[in-house]
Amino acid sequence: MNWKCDVVTDLAPLYHDGVASKASRKLVKEHLRECPECRAYYKKYSPVEGIKMDMPISDAEDFVMLAKQMRRRRLLLWGGFLSYVSATVAALVLYWVKKNR
Ligand SMILES: [Zn+2]
Repeated sequence: MNWKCDVVTDLAPLYHDGVASKASRKLVKEHLRECPECRAYYKKYSPVEGIKMDMPISDAEDFVMLAKQMRRRRLLLWGGFLSYVSATVAALVLYWVKKNR
């Protein structure tokens, strides 16, 4: 490992997240091409960080959407059920009232 390897491994997270400066990106890219050690490090680093950085955000949004949809569906279901029950009760009461008049 030379000094470039140290710099590149330091910059790898920034490079991976796309927030490194243009010069840093160029340095990392060029070094990864010629240095198998750093390439291995970067490969090992990126899947973990890729999951950590990219997945939870979209997953969290999906979960929020899903939770909202489920809540709405449950409310609709309950609303439908309650109106069905009250309609049935009203019909029974009307029937009972007419019958006993
Ligand atoms: Zn290196």
